[in-house]
Amino acid sequence: MKPPKFAYHAPAALGEAIQLLERYRGNARVLAGGQSLIPMLNFRLLAPEALVDLRRVPGLADIRVSQGRVCIGAMTRQRAAENSQVVAQHLPLMQEALGWVGHLPTRSRGTIGGSIAHADPSAELPMVLLALDGAVVATGPSGERVVAADDLFDSLFTTTLATTEVLSEVRIPAMQARSGFAVEEYARRKGDFAIVGIATVLEGDAKRCTRARLVATGVGGRPIRLRAAEQMLEKDGLGAETVEAASRKAAEIVEPTSDPNASADFRRHLTGVLAKRALLRAIKLLQESSHG
Ligand SMILES: Cc1cc2nc3c(=O)[nH]c(=O)nc-3n(C[C@H](O)[C@H](O)[C@H](O)COP(=O)(O)OP(=O)(O)OC[C@H]3O[C@@H](n4cnc5c(N)ncnc54)[C@H](O)[C@@H]3O)c2cc1C
Repeated sequence: MKPPKFAYHAPAALGEAIQLLERYRGNARVLAGGQSLIPMLNFRLLAPEALVDLRRVPGLADIRVSQGRVCIGAMTRQRAAENSQVVAQHLPLMQEALGWVGHLPTRSRGTIGGSIAHADPSAELPMVLLALDGAVVATGPSGERVVAADDLFDSLFTTTLATTEVLSEVRIPAMQARSGFAVEEYARRKGDFAIVGIATVLEGDAKRCTRARLVATGVGGRPIRLRAAEQMLEKDGLGAETVEAASRKAAEIVEPTSDPNASADFRRHLTGVLAKRALLRAIKLLQESSHG
């Protein structure tokens, strides 16, 4: 199918991109890697008046560490992040998750910012942003604002970004060297969107868990922190019984719906199974990092 007609702009500065978005008053779309936007246009799910392509805007594709945070330019290709030494060293959870995002060709074009702004309810990167207490920088007509992951994701394919704002940077606190982490996912085929995905990060030692994050994707309109399960791990430690109980709790508290890909019951079941797998793998890593 062919996309509907649209005007195309490729501004050479971020300010110019924002002026264009203002000019079209919500009827323009930012074009990043095009891996979701172009299929949506081709299927005529969207009909914007204009596309504002960010690829000529300088300075949007760097990865750097600043004040204990990893700052990733929104236009950084997913493949570049996957191959980045900085990401491997400071955000190994993101590196692991990127292996689940689509296929090599889609990751070579698709961007980190595009995946987060697109807010697909089964995507991995929004889940990772939430699990790592990350934030994004939104640049708009009145300057920059920082939006924490929990305040960014609203509902299906919807964020709290204004139509005149560009997601310009992703900021994530560097992970502690002494931590355990894991991503577990079930998808019908490698490279498909998750039916359910789980990301976990654990800090502490064999006796005490000082910080637990357990986040699910595919079980609602946005990624969800499984706080009641996190609290059990922080209160009762990382023994086998607590892991079992926290995984059961994770399955209890999600509220998935049925769709042609999977029933709500199946998604609930997967949440418990994948949470347990992720926790066990993260605990092993945490133990190894504590001894290393
Ligand atoms: C075959 C296939 C399999 C895939 N499998 C997966 C998968 O398993 N997991 C997964 O997570 N994704 C998957 N994807 C989607 C892929 O990851 C996309 O790259 C990603 O969702 C969008 O990133 P993009 O850079 O291509 O953005 P685009 O497609 O260019 O844009 C997507 C949306 O975000 C908006 N947007 C983009 N960048 C910005 C910005 N900087 N500021 C404000 N708004 C912005 C656009 O206006 C648009 O609405 C798959 C895609 C394909 C084609």
